[in-house]
Amino acid sequence: MKKKTTQKHEPISGKLGANIIGPRNHELEKQNPDLLVPPRTDQGLMPNLKWSFADSHMRIEEGGWAREVTVRELPISTAIAGVNMRLKAGAVRELHWHHAAEWSYMLKGGARITAVDQNGCTFQDDIFEGDLWYFPAGIPHSIQGLEDDGCEFLLVFDDGNFSEEETFLLTDFLAHIPKEVLAKNFQVAEKAFANIPEKELYIFETKVPGPLAKDKVQGNGPVPIPFSHRMMAQKPIRTKSGTVRITDSSVFPISKTIAAALVEIEPGGMRELHWHPNADEWQFYIAGQARMTVFTATATARTFNYQAGDVGVVPKHMGHYIENIGDTTLRFLEIFKSDYFADVSLSQWLAFTPRELVKAHLKIDEKILEKIPKTKRPVVP
Ligand code: MN
Ligand code: MN
Repeated sequence: MKKKTTQKHEPISGKLGANIIGPRNHELEKQNPDLLVPPRTDQGLMPNLKWSFADSHMRIEEGGWAREVTVRELPISTAIAGVNMRLKAGAVRELHWHHAAEWSYMLKGGARITAVDQNGCTFQDDIFEGDLWYFPAGIPHSIQGLEDDGCEFLLVFDDGNFSEEETFLLTDFLAHIPKEVLAKNFQVAEKAFANIPEKELYIFETKVPGPLAKDKVQGNGPVPIPFSHRMMAQKPIRTKSGTVRITDSSVFPISKTIAAALVEIEPGGMRELHWHPNADEWQFYIAGQARMTVFTATATARTFNYQAGDVGVVPKHMGHYIENIGDTTLRFLEIFKSDYFADVSLSQWLAFTPRELVKAHLKIDEKILEKIPKTKRPVVP
């Protein structure tokens, strides 16, 4: 029998390398097999393209928590920041607004969301697993956990510098306005404000809201463009090794600054080699195990591994693939700061380029070129 030259979870590749004999974090190394033993095609200097929410500070509050991945954690991601938040049943992310627009994907459970726009048009909806919402920058809103166990969701902001610690909160605002001014503004007696909180609530517990219909406030009528969208209700595009649902402003019109794709890849399958001509890609891994190589030109490429709760980034134009290296379905979100989704397929480019020209570059037999998948890429309405 041929002697085994590659040991598991040791930086040994064929005849190269040696086992680790100093201090090590074995669990973390096991999660990053392609960093520990990079493919021989990896080369050159590359910024970090991975952050795990497990490495983020957890802000623990009454009835919930929040943790974030911003430019402070992942400096390459200047366009997008992400927040992972949990609210128990009844717990509220207090009424607030912020500089960035907010896009969200519900990971588990249900929430009641509310907003009022600049014209006094109102929005209230109940959001469940696989549903989205989008609040334009500056529009005040709230999120509250529903029965039975509240919810957990991913928030995406169209500014990498955003932080959940720097939002405009209702209670914080009122606590910093003289009481006589509040009385004058609301045209009531000053004593009406005797009990307002002195400090922000941020996340706090209150009773679970009643039925949505009972909670509705008419205001100046409903917002002209809904702030929510049922992503899982979209018919998926089926490919050889998985599915994709693309949600950009063509199907979710209010989402003017965020385009998204929910990708599912079966074991052994792969998201083909491609790049994005319009924006950086920000990824959130929901389930499964992946590896991704990113090619940055100038003979530079690096391979990263991802699993549930991890964030990945691919700067605009850089070539990449995402491979399912586990034995369960890989599910992740691709997010772009753009009003439309776009990717350029390497296969499609080569398949639709004159044969002789491609052959002259790659020295590939014409019969092989004929086999390159020519699947017409789905055109999103
Ligand atoms: Mn918000
Ligand atoms: Mn991509």
